Amino acid sequence: MKIIDAHTHLPGWSFGSQPRPIRELRREFEEQGLGGAWLFTTDGLVGESVKNNDILAKAVADHRDFFAPFCTVDPLCGAKAALRELDRAKHKLGMRGVKLHPWLQRFSMTNPAMEPIFKHAGKLGLPVLLHDGTPPYASSLQIAALAEKAPQTIIILGHAGLDDQYEDAILACRRHANIYLCLCSNSCGYVEEIIRRCPVQRLLFGSDGGFLPNLIALAIAKLRATDAPATVLRRIFHDNPLSLVPLPEHKLGRQRRQLFHR
Ligand SMILES: [Zn+2]
Repeated sequence: MKIIDAHTHLPGWSFGSQPRPIRELRREFEEQGLGGAWLFTTDGLVGESVKNNDILAKAVADHRDFFAPFCTVDPLCGAKAALRELDRAKHKLGMRGVKLHPWLQRFSMTNPAMEPIFKHAGKLGLPVLLHDGTPPYASSLQIAALAEKAPQTIIILGHAGLDDQYEDAILACRRHANIYLCLCSNSCGYVEEIIRRCPVQRLLFGSDGGFLPNLIALAIAKLRATDAPATVLRRIFHDNPLSLVPLPEHKLGRQRRQLFHR
């Protein structure tokens, strides 16, 4: 089974990490057991989003069979600029989703740009994954309240509430059909509870890989150590992420890559 990681970051200059060649990053991810990964910026969450979207798209250009790049936008620049960047990210850069980090990007879910961003991402067919589980800005239920206003958009709670808000994340997922949970950084017992109580088709595996060595291998081992049956694990590791963001089976040549970018 090809394991797809729905939560990884391109190493950058922030948080003590250092940029390294994408080939190396891919090898590192593959050696830890991955067959593909959704890849987010790191530097773009604390710096310029547009510039870092360009950096991410360029980095993965020859590895689109493995990496699904997610753009970010800055709600503090206003809805108009954010929507323009979403269009550019989808149509020009071929981004496959949106990553937002209310805590690092210093915005609240009540920011007036947020509702248009959620709705427009849905129109473009881009799932939106948000960091959650760290109040006051990134609370799981605040995100859920806004998700309710954009029912056509797939909203992913990027940490399933972490350990402090996992109950809220479960509630959000059960209440709203457009909310998915990414099981990233939750403790083992909480992961088991989330799996027991939430619709399995809306659960995804994630690791925050790219930040520290071996994060992915540890996250895979943690999920495998739960009491979840193999059929459920297969959906979380493989079927669900691929149904949201399909990855091509084989490496794309230059010509097909250009098609892919349209
Ligand atoms: Zn993350």
